[in-house]
Amino acid sequence: MIKDLVTVKRSKRARHVALRLDPVERVINLIVPRHMPLNKAYRFAQDHEDWVKKTLGKLPETIPFTHDTILPVFGDKVRLDIAIDPTLKRTTLKQCDDALYIKTYQQDPANRITMHLKKIARAGLADIVSDKASGIGKSVKSVTIRDTKSRWGSCSQDANMSFSWRLIFAPYSAIDYVVAHEVSHLIHMDHSPAFWEVCKSLSCDYKNGKRWMKENGNSLMCYGKKL
Ligand SMILES: [Zn+2]
Repeated sequence: MIKDLVTVKRSKRARHVALRLDPVERVINLIVPRHMPLNKAYRFAQDHEDWVKKTLGKLPETIPFTHDTILPVFGDKVRLDIAIDPTLKRTTLKQCDDALYIKTYQQDPANRITMHLKKIARAGLADIVSDKASGIGKSVKSVTIRDTKSRWGSCSQDANMSFSWRLIFAPYSAIDYVVAHEVSHLIHMDHSPAFWEVCKSLSCDYKNGKRWMKENGNSLMCYGKKL
């Protein structure tokens, strides 16, 4: 039944009925314009049942933050080593080259691990940003970390940048490309050919980085989620 496969979202702004994947919630939303009868929207979904099934079937597996999980972090492999001891008073995290040691009283320290990874993300991304920005004689006001669903990075008119913390799970060439992209906006606030020239010159592997994000960006959403 198509009704079991999609989640109805009434929308005031939508002008057409549409099916849209939400990679974070791992559902397909059926976007229904305000005045459209629901049956008509379901008929549209029914016509695209093959796409719905294929898209749901292709969702990457979730990778929860549990003991012995191996995470790619800025291109390195980091193993989570979680030791639970209910008598402990607080949670401690120690990052070594290839492992993150977590000693905790919590049954599920996933949130603490997420906080730690966000800190690493901010520091690492800010480093790459300042490197690239100084290379073109520009400076950046601030670098913040968010958990966005569709935008991996952004750069405001007044040089404030933000990135999704989940970028750290991407291959280095992809992280490097996203940062190069936002830093290039310090010179061109558009996506003109001149912008892409700067972006290319600031990237270590522009072609592969850009392609990886386009083809696999959604897979970054599966980290830290429970089955
Ligand atoms: Zn852009």
